Amino acid sequence: MKTDNKHYLIVGSGLIGRLLAWRLLLLGHRVDIISRDDKQGTDSAGFAAAAMISPATEAISTEPMVKEIGLTSLALWPQWLAELPEKVFYQNHGTIVVAHAGDQAEMARFTKRAEHTLSPNDFSVLTKQQLQQQEVELAEHFDQALFFKDESCLDNRHLYQLLTTILTESEHCQWQEGEVEKLNTASIEQIAQQYFAHSSTEYAEVIDCRGNGAKHDLTDLRSVRGEVIRVHAPEVNFKHAIRLIHPRYPFYLAPRPNNEYVLGATVIESDDMSPVSVRSGLEMMSALYSLHKGFAEARVLEMSVHCRPAMINNMPTIRRTEWGFQINGFYRHGFLFSPAIISDFLHILNDQPEQINFGDYYHV
Ligand SMILES: Cc1cc2nc3c(=O)[nH]c(=O)nc-3n(C[C@H](O)[C@H](O)[C@H](O)COP(=O)(O)OP(=O)(O)OC[C@H]3O[C@@H](n4cnc5c(N)ncnc54)[C@H](O)[C@@H]3O)c2cc1C
Repeated sequence: MKTDNKHYLIVGSGLIGRLLAWRLLLLGHRVDIISRDDKQGTDSAGFAAAAMISPATEAISTEPMVKEIGLTSLALWPQWLAELPEKVFYQNHGTIVVAHAGDQAEMARFTKRAEHTLSPNDFSVLTKQQLQQQEVELAEHFDQALFFKDESCLDNRHLYQLLTTILTESEHCQWQEGEVEKLNTASIEQIAQQYFAHSSTEYAEVIDCRGNGAKHDLTDLRSVRGEVIRVHAPEVNFKHAIRLIHPRYPFYLAPRPNNEYVLGATVIESDDMSPVSVRSGLEMMSALYSLHKGFAEARVLEMSVHCRPAMINNMPTIRRTEWGFQINGFYRHGFLFSPAIISDFLHILNDQPEQINFGDYYHV
C-alpha cells in the first residue's frame, strides 16, 4: 500500500483505536490519539473480552456474512501478530462445542443451524473416542461434541500491552488522556490546540473509535452488557476454546497461558456498567464447574463487566461525516472482525475502492 505521510486524529484508544493507530504508524503516517481511557485500556470493551475469533460458531447464531468477515480476519491475525515485538498467545486449535444432557434440544437446534448456515467441512461431529483424542479432560463429562477447526482466540491483555508500548514509544504518535463528548469541527479544533498544540487543519482525517462513548454522535448505537470471569485453574488443561450450549447465553471458555481461563459472556440488552450480578456470577461459575471438576479449586482472578457497542443489525459500520469517519458497532465481534474491517478502512483512506471487501456495511 502506498504511504504518503499523513497526520490523523484518533478518538478512543480501545481495540479499534489502538489497532488502527498501529497500522497507520506502520504505513508511515503520524497519529494523535485522544482517549478518556488509561494507557492500559481498562475502560475498553476489548480489555474485558474473551477475544475469541470464531467465524463459524458466531455465524450460526448471527448471519452468514459473519463467517466471511471472520475468515478474512482469521487469515490476517497471525500476520499481524507476527509484526509485534513479542509473541502473543494465539490458540488456533479450534473450538469444541458441548452440551449437558438437559440441553440436548438446544444442541440439536445449534447443529441444525450449523448445517444450514455453514458448509460441511466447517465442522465435524466428534464421538466420545474422538473427543478423548482432541481434549481428553472434556471427554470425562461429555459423550459427543461438535468440532470447528478454523477458530482461534488470543491474549487480549498482552496484545493491548504491546500496542501501548509501540504507540507510546513512537516518535510519530502523541497520546493524550481526555474525554470527548461530541465531535464537530469546533471541538476538533479545540482538541488539536489544547492537547496537541497545533491546528486541526494538520489532520488528513479524524477517526472516531469511541465505541459505546460515541452515542452523542451515533444515535442508533446501543450497548449490550457482557460479564466475564477470569480464573487460574492449575488442575485444568484444556487447549481448545470450548463453547457450552446454554439456554440463556452462548457461554465460551477461552484459554490463556499458564492455566488461566476466561469464561464469558452474558448478553444483556443494557448499558449498565455496574458490577457482575450474583445470578450471572452463579451461572458462570456453575458453567465452569460443569465443564471440569478441576475448576472447583480454581482461583477467581477477576469478574468483570463491559458493554459491547452495537448497531441495530449487530454488524460493524464505517460512516463518513462532515468532520471525519466513525468506525463502530463491533458488538461481540471486535476481535473477530477488526483486521478485516480495519484493512478495508485503510483502503478507504487510501482511495482504493476496488480493494474493499465488505462495502455493504459502510456509508462512505
Ligand atoms: C464481555 C465481553 C466479551 C467479549 N468477547 C469477545 C470475543 O470473544 N471476541 C470478539 O471478537 N469480541 C468480543 N467482545 C467485543 C469486543 O470487545 C468489542 O467489539 C470491541 O472491543 C469494540 O472495540 P471498540 O474499539 O469499538 O470499543 P472499545 O474497545 O470499548 O474502545 C472504546 C475506547 O474509546 C474510549 N472512549 C469512550 N468514550 C470516550 C469519550 N467520550 N472520549 C474519549 N474516549 C472515549 C474508551 O475509553 C475506550 O478506550 C467482547 C466484549 C465484551 C464486553
